[in-house]
Amino acid sequence: MITGERKPLSEIKEMVAPFKKILVVGCGTCVAECASGGEKEVGLLASALRMDARMEGRKVDIKELTLDRQCVFEFIDQLTDLIDQYDAILSLGCGAGVQAVAEIFPEAVILPALNTTFIGETKEAGLWIENCRACGDCKLGVFAAVCPITRCAKGLFNGPCGGSKDGKCEADANTPCAWQLIIDRLDKRGQLDLLQKIYPPADWSRQQGKGPRKIHREDQEI
Ligand code: SF4
Ligand code: SF4
Repeated sequence: MITGERKPLSEIKEMVAPFKKILVVGCGTCVAECASGGEKEVGLLASALRMDARMEGRKVDIKELTLDRQCVFEFIDQLTDLIDQYDAILSLGCGAGVQAVAEIFPEAVILPALNTTFIGETKEAGLWIENCRACGDCKLGVFAAVCPITRCAKGLFNGPCGGSKDGKCEADANTPCAWQLIIDRLDKRGQLDLLQKIYPPADWSRQQGKGPRKIHREDQEI
């Protein structure tokens, strides 16, 4: 999932200051899972902004709505009959959601309330960990489903750096050494021979320097 963290209230207040009618829009998918942009967080942010306005004697009308997904037209369409009623949309979607809404309503002011952070997993309650950098050439099949690009501090493809201690990364003693994990898993499976091959560095040209990446599948067209 995509993770995000809510911007500081002071920054959000500054963004919404020129507007009197604001719709706070959450997203019920990734950012709900990481407790930054779902229905609950929409309610908390809207309440904080209302309270703040009341304490400062400002009149603002703040409403709330959470879409199932903020990056898919079928769900964004729920805003079609509402958007003209507001001066600004304060989105708690990820960067993709904010931009998707803005593409559909280019005249509207769409403001980001989150800082989109990374692709990751929910490790435990209250803990999310990055585990993919969307390199476009997934090698989890040879690295025992441990991503060395994301989980090795040095992004090494051909074995450990030699600095790990007690199975932890030398760059952060609280983080498991990705290469220790890779080797242990491959060893258990009897697949250490996968590491005999020399793997070239990641080809970042797939990810960078060509503008936004696209996935186009004719079999999914209607
Ligand atoms: S190799 Fe790592 S960064 Fe690349 S797609 Fe796979 S998990 Fe993501
Ligand atoms: S200690 Fe392990 S995870 Fe950390 S940089 Fe070295 S090989 Fe990578």
